[in-house]
Amino acid sequence: MEGEDRFLGNGVHYCAACDGPFYKGQHVAVPGGGNSAVEDQVHVNGAFIFIGLEPNTSFLNDTDVELNRAGFILTGHNLPADSAWVDRFESRLPLMFETSVPGIFAAGDVRESSTRQVAAAAGEGVTAAMLVREYLKGIRFKI
Ligand SMILES: Cc1cc2nc3c(=O)[nH]c(=O)nc-3n(C[C@H](O)[C@H](O)[C@H](O)COP(=O)(O)OP(=O)(O)OC[C@H]3O[C@@H](n4cnc5c(N)ncnc54)[C@H](O)[C@@H]3O)c2cc1C
Repeated sequence: MEGEDRFLGNGVHYCAACDGPFYKGQHVAVPGGGNSAVEDQVHVNGAFIFIGLEPNTSFLNDTDVELNRAGFILTGHNLPADSAWVDRFESRLPLMFETSVPGIFAAGDVRESSTRQVAAAAGEGVTAAMLVREYLKGIRFKI
């Protein structure tokens, strides 16, 4: 977008959730979703650029890790109640951030329902690591 560098952080932003409140009651444009010409047509106080997100999960296509239609990984309570994971988990429910395969966890933007924020991704990663430990403690006595 023309002038993007010059106005970065002061009129041009990439995160509506983070910087949107600065423009409360003002006009903003959201170029990137097929409407990139909009900023030329109307006077705006700010622009939020949305480039979209395509998860790099095709390597999971031949596995039992379930993805949604857009390719994001399903975890925890996002897993549909009637799918094949139920048999794999025997008598327990998947842990938070655990995928449809016991012991495989996902965290961050690649996960369905992630809030797509840096702090959330870091927090999910830490929590997932702690839950891996819980998972390993649970299977230790079965080996
Ligand atoms: C332009 C832009 C601006 C943003 N601004 C903000 C902001 O102001 N505030 C905010 O909170 N969030 C912001 N975000 C969102 C934030 O960047 C993400 O939520 C965060 O980076 C997600 O972290 P992640 O670790 O889940 O994924 P990522 O940061 O995307 O990290 C995934 C990593 O995995 C690597 N990878 C991918 N596939 C493979 C593979 N097959 N094998 C090995 N490695 C692989 C990638 O190269 C990458 O390094 C912004 C995002 C964008 C794109």
